[in-house]
Amino acid sequence: MSSQSFYNIAFKGLSQGEHIFEYEVDGKFFAEFGGGVVDEGNVNVRVTLEKQSALMILWFDLEGTVNVQCDRCLEMYDQPIKGSERIFVKFGDKEYVDGDDVIWVSNNDYQLNVAQLIYEFISLAIPIKRIHPDDENGNSTCDKEMLEKLEKYIVKEDEAKSSVWNDLKKLLDNE
Ligand SMILES: [Zn+2]
Repeated sequence: MSSQSFYNIAFKGLSQGEHIFEYEVDGKFFAEFGGGVVDEGNVNVRVTLEKQSALMILWFDLEGTVNVQCDRCLEMYDQPIKGSERIFVKFGDKEYVDGDDVIWVSNNDYQLNVAQLIYEFISLAIPIKRIHPDDENGNSTCDKEMLEKLEKYIVKEDEAKSSVWNDLKKLLDNE
């Protein structure tokens, strides 16, 4: 069901008041709309649209998991995410900047595609620091083998750096 038109909300024909749209986004969604940060995931998105005479308010409530790379062991894991965002939709042909949470649609438009907004709000809900969550005993669930390999590599890199530094120091000392 993941296609561009599936995320179109035809607002023109809606009555004033609240309307709810539910989406379940998965890998197909991320493949189609994602910018490469997330390729896999499963997120339930509820869009509550409040139509008023002069504008619309859209609330996005999302909850689920996204598959991201762990900063510590570099393996992929499912990061739980949760978020709520709100935007205002105003009508008019003037497209001047009116804050981050306002989007303008033309008076001739009859539908709004929310796919890109959903993707942006999912991205915003992902923590900056991405690390495997601890298990119920408080132990790290990072890939231990990978961590050991990384540790060796990092130590080697440090040694390489210090040898470059020593060479430079020798050179300077001889001047
Ligand atoms: Zn990890």
